[in-house]
Amino acid sequence: MRKIAFGYSTRCNIRCSHCVAAGETPVTSKMELARARDIIREMIRAEVKGISFTAGEPFIYFDDLAELVNLCSENSIYTRVVTNSYWAKTPEQARERLHLLSQCGISQLRLSYSRWHQQHVPRQYVLNAAKACQDAGVDSFISFITDFSEQDEPFEQYLRDNCPRFFPEPVIYAGRAEGFNQQSLFTDYQENCCQMNPYLAPDLTMYACCDAGSHFSATNFFRLGSLNDWSVEELLTKSETSILYNCIRTMGITTIASYAGMKSRDIVTYRKCSLCKKMFNDPETLHALQTAAAGDLLQWHR
Ligand code: SF4
Ligand code: SF4
Repeated sequence: MRKIAFGYSTRCNIRCSHCVAAGETPVTSKMELARARDIIREMIRAEVKGISFTAGEPFIYFDDLAELVNLCSENSIYTRVVTNSYWAKTPEQARERLHLLSQCGISQLRLSYSRWHQQHVPRQYVLNAAKACQDAGVDSFISFITDFSEQDEPFEQYLRDNCPRFFPEPVIYAGRAEGFNQQSLFTDYQENCCQMNPYLAPDLTMYACCDAGSHFSATNFFRLGSLNDWSVEELLTKSETSILYNCIRTMGITTIASYAGMKSRDIVTYRKCSLCKKMFNDPETLHALQTAAAGDLLQWHR
């Protein structure tokens, strides 16, 4: 099923110190509303079935967002909006926004929460937003971004005490978090497969990966192309037919790293996106893998 992360604008009302969207050029950019409408119509023709509105803070352009969500919902596209809940200052304000969005047919809200977000947005706002979703009959969950350190325990406890639905999500060490100290890690020898939903940036560049993919600056491995030069269908087909991308989806990055000669005892010290970066943001390794993808790599299975 085709799903896309839709970056209407990179503008945000706050500045989280872990933000993966930071560091892009230009610093803030926004799509034209008319262009966004046309792109969504093109996505409908390309049979995209899910759109997640993300990038900066989508509620900043609330009227535009409501219109785009409405267009999706009229065409049976599942819509998710990722937000930091700054707009849910009171239960009444939260209810008012949710009422409008539910009339537009929104499917789900993903409420971001972390020790970095909550330096700027009181955590009560996130609960107000979650409660307003519940009252409006809109599905929602809290995305608890964490580096799994002790500092995050009170933040997790707050969610447990207040009972909303939440899911921990590892911080991605890209963008502003690139220079963070990473705690050492030993994982299982897990596959590290990645679904890879494409991300459309406001400048109309599409990437094959919606998270750290736009930060692979040495190789631009995930850059599919610009909608100024290609159609939605062409870029999605490019993503779906790339042998190496399909290896990431089905074989997993761990197996690719092992094939590339990395020791297993090193592999288990890497987080998924960091391992991905090690493999695909190094021009030499990438070249070797691209050559192998047409032959040997596909035979590297049990
Ligand atoms: S993480 Fe989200 S809320 Fe925080 S600065 Fe980035 S886009 Fe804004
Ligand atoms: S593992 Fe790679 S493809 Fe998947 S989200 Fe991370 S950077 Fe993107």
